[in-house]
This record gives sequence, C-alpha cells and structure tokens, in this order.
Amino acid sequence: MRRPVIAANWKMNKKIEEAQAFLDEFIPLVWNEREVDIVIAPPFTALYTMANLLRITNIGLAAQDLFYEDKGAYTGEISPVMLTDIGCSYVIIGHSERRIYFGETDEIVNKKFRAARRHGLEVIFCIGESLSEREAGMTFDVLKRQISEGIRDISSDGLIIAYEPVWAIGTGKTATPDQAQEAHESIRKTLSHLYGEPAKGVRILYGGSVTPENADVLMACPDVDGALVGGASLKADSFAGIVKYNKQ
Ligand code: PEP
Repeated sequence: MRRPVIAANWKMNKKIEEAQAFLDEFIPLVWNEREVDIVIAPPFTALYTMANLLRITNIGLAAQDLFYEDKGAYTGEISPVMLTDIGCSYVIIGHSERRIYFGETDEIVNKKFRAARRHGLEVIFCIGESLSEREAGMTFDVLKRQISEGIRDISSDGLIIAYEPVWAIGTGKTATPDQAQEAHESIRKTLSHLYGEPAKGVRILYGGSVTPENADVLMACPDVDGALVGGASLKADSFAGIVKYNKQ
C-alpha cells in the first residue's frame, strides 16, 4: 500500500506574511488528515519561518531546488546542508521550469539528487514530456531517459517521482485520467526494469493543473499516488480541497 503524497509548489509566490496567513487558514482545515503526507514547498525566503510554524503539524516542508555542493564559492546558491539546517525535509528536483528556464540537464538533476540523498532529504523528482514531444510520439522515450539519467546511482528507498506533462503545467489542460494512468504505468515499468520488485513501492505523483474538481478522478487511477500542485495550492481552501480528495 503506497501512502499518498499531496504536495504544494508555490514557485515564486508569497511573501512571509502571505505564507503565514495561508497557514493560519490551512492548518485548521487539514490538521486531522491522517491518510496522506502533506508537503508545502514555499520560496526560499519563507522556508525558515515556515519551518518554525510547521514544527508540530502534520505538514512537511520542501525546498523548490538546491545546489549539489555543500558549501563554497557558488554565488546565489543554496546547499542541502543549509536546507537540513533550517528543518527542511523534502526538496523538489528537476522541475520542468528549472529544466526550461535555467538549463538544467539530466546530469545536473542527478547531481542534485545525489547531494540531497547524501544529506537525508526526501526528493520529489519531476519528469515530463513537452507538447511537441508528446505530439511526436516520444512521451515514453523521454520519460525513460529522464528516469534512467536522473536516478543514476540512486536507490529506490523513499523514491517519489512527480510526472508532470509540461503541456499541462499552469495551462488548465489537465491530463485525462487515462493519459495520467498510461504514463504512470510506463514509469513504473521503467522502474521495475531498474529496481525489480521495490518499484512497486515508489510513489508516483501527477502534476499539471490539478484542482479540487479533478483530484478525485486522478487519484482514483491505480498508479497515481498523489499530486504535485502549483496554482491551486496558493489558496488554502483549494489546496485543502485537494488534500481531502475522495479516499473511498
Ligand atoms: C507545477 O508546476 O508543479 C504544477 C503542477 O503547476 P500547476 O498545478 O499550476 O499546473
């Protein structure tokens, strides 16, 4: 039985005061949620404040990225040591926005992944095809490449993958449940080739325009083990609506 993960990616949104206001509203809505792991990834500037506010809650804290060295002359970067120091336990790696706007390659993603693991951070590892790749029939090859390069030398223990078709991110165009299930199934097949039986325990989240309205049908897919949520995670009531999807 895979425990679902519902994670919020706030991207470059919310000042500290706004993050606090979100939690004031959100915590009472989800404090009794026992069946899913809830995670929030605020911008770096709100991490320390959020770490203190989340300490005795059922909500985990994630960074949206890290750099793969522990310290040194890397202006502007944040290391895994700094993240664990402030009480962060998860990190998102390989988000398509980082791949597209900041030139992150599979090799860089893998270096970041290994650095995060060295310091005991749980990684939400993002993969997904672009619209042109999907239209060219390359979806499964792209996913296979991103997985095998990204998780090189990484064990399956605690692995969390987020399948985020780039064409569905922030566009309002959600993958249909069939499209999501088909992609998740192919991801699990690739993982089985790499890890064997333990692949069955890997949690695979779907991301791309998830809302309280479509969360039930997506979460009902057998290989969808959670959601990574951007836009709909910015409002406490809509993110809580996703956390409280129908678990029947
Ligand atoms: C994301 O960027 O991880 C994401 C899924 O965004 P949205 O939910 O806004 O599509």
